Amino acid sequence: MSKTILQLDNVNTYYGKIHALKDVSFEVNEGEIVTLIGSNGAGKTTTLKTISALLKPANGNIVYMGKKVNGSAPHLLTREGIAHVPEGRKIFPRLTVEENLEMGAFSLTSQERIKRNKDYVFELFPRLLERRKQKGGTLSGGEQQMLAMGRGLMSDPKIMLLDEPSMGLAPMMIQTVFDIIKKLRNEGITILLVEQNAGKALKLANKGYVLQTGSVILSGTGAELLKNDMVREAYLG
Ligand code: ATP
Repeated sequence: MSKTILQLDNVNTYYGKIHALKDVSFEVNEGEIVTLIGSNGAGKTTTLKTISALLKPANGNIVYMGKKVNGSAPHLLTREGIAHVPEGRKIFPRLTVEENLEMGAFSLTSQERIKRNKDYVFELFPRLLERRKQKGGTLSGGEQQMLAMGRGLMSDPKIMLLDEPSMGLAPMMIQTVFDIIKKLRNEGITILLVEQNAGKALKLANKGYVLQTGSVILSGTGAELLKNDMVREAYLG
């Protein structure tokens, strides 16, 4: 049996009076791709932000590598190996590709390691190598997504939280992004993937959880959820 790397236990998160996460519980095993699917406003982004400590849960537990981490701070969690690649990429438009990547390595001190990680990112995304001196804001949507994932990889993550990586991309670029996610898993990085593209995400995922208005209503292996009537009707069109 593989080891649990991340576990949420009855997590509740509010925005003022809005109860956005209601007793959310799930677990992610080391080396897996786990996907969260659900309609707009279901709480997927809120879940990722709560894990990476951008939002503070009102109660419940978040356990990462055997340690309770709610109450921690985002930069400390980055150092511990949690990389959050946010919705909408959020790259630094006025910095070059290379400078954007270096920002992702803020938690590292060894220059040698930073260089090694940069080489790895450039090997994974040759497009970024070609554009290393170009300003982030001048990249295409797909290239910006590669940059956002590359920046996340710069911190040597054990787990990556990917929020809608395929959003707004052309079909070929979507395939590239999914291929990269698969490759990252093969290299031992655990992935928690939020996706509108539920069909593609479930095909790739070891496990999936369906969120509806802040609650987990269904879970199963990717293959089970792909066959589930409710999932097919609501999320696979
Ligand atoms: P989407 O796919 O549209 O991004 P989501 O599943 O990621 O949806 P969340 O963004 O997590 O959903 O939102 C969950 C709920 O919390 C929604 O009802 C949303 O309106 C609310 N919400 C999100 N951010 C805020 C905020 N900053 N202030 C108040 N309410 C918010």
